[in-house]
Amino acid sequence: MSLTDKFGRSIHDLRISITDRCNYKCVYCRTGTNGAAFAELPFDDYLRMARILVSLGITKIRLTGGEPLLRKGIVQFVRDLAQLRTEEGLKPEIAVTTNGHLLAEIAQPLKDAGLDRVTVSMDAVDPEKFARITRVPHGYENVLAGVRAARQAGLDPVKINCVLLRGFNEDQVTAFGKFAREENVVVRFIEFMPLEEDRVWTPEIVVPLDEILARMSEYLPLQEIPHQRSETARRYRFSDGIGEIGIIAPVSHPFCGHCSRIRITSDGKLRTCLFSVWDHDLHELMRRGATDDKLVEFILQVVGKKEERHHIGEPGFVPASRTMVHIGG
Ligand code: SAM
Repeated sequence: MSLTDKFGRSIHDLRISITDRCNYKCVYCRTGTNGAAFAELPFDDYLRMARILVSLGITKIRLTGGEPLLRKGIVQFVRDLAQLRTEEGLKPEIAVTTNGHLLAEIAQPLKDAGLDRVTVSMDAVDPEKFARITRVPHGYENVLAGVRAARQAGLDPVKINCVLLRGFNEDQVTAFGKFAREENVVVRFIEFMPLEEDRVWTPEIVVPLDEILARMSEYLPLQEIPHQRSETARRYRFSDGIGEIGIIAPVSHPFCGHCSRIRITSDGKLRTCLFSVWDHDLHELMRRGATDDKLVEFILQVVGKKEERHHIGEPGFVPASRTMVHIGG
């Protein structure tokens, strides 16, 4: 069984936001104010959704948020997800995207429960700059310990996500190159997208792929690594063979034509695109007692509505109906 949208794209990659709470208030994501109502479902509800989606052809599940490691019970949830099987009998790949603040303690239990991969978000390798971005003091040491614990637990290759903002952390490019080589992690730079709560995005703040490459090449020459069509990152190896970086460039080099993703928000809504202007209430159907067959029918209809592409930077761009922290990055 496979999920295919009306543009012929195979949908095999599911992201589940398991909370929209976060212990960081990154300047490009959150407003920095508290008081928003938080939404999360019991794990059994996400599990039922995941089970049905895996039966429909999902082969990769990424847990995100908010900050997923804030959810008590995440280890058992990963263990339950690891029991799911595709029609062909394959275990879906299970990954987590986290800010890493709580990772050091839980990396090994997550690995033992069946986690395959972890991506840690870090927007600076300088502790002071890191604190200014996350608006949390002393987070850097925890995150570094988390990255090292993940490697120790065998969650290789550990990937690091870094969002560059002009005038804020663009000077971190070569420092991250060094970090990738020294810590043996894959650092992936992500172009800033208009999904922040503060609505401060402008094209000028985005540090685009070409500029990141130029800055990194001044540090050390790079060679591009061939990548699979559905991979979002362009991959590069340093020419001496030590260290890899990636660049995810949804703004300057969109990859919507190869998008293989569908998302479940923390309140149980299906989203077909980060930039969707509406979402589809799968959880409400479940709450009303829908059978699995009904849910399958609904999911197939929703996938049929997947948008062809985003319109970032175009005249008349309509912002997404929800921001990143509520959708799940
Ligand atoms: N709290 C977890 C974390 O920090 O990784 C998971 C959620 S976070 C929303 C997921 C990823 O989205 C992070 O790597 C973050 O840097 C990225 N992100 C958030 N807002 C973004 C934006 N406006 N543009 C690009 N990436 C963004």
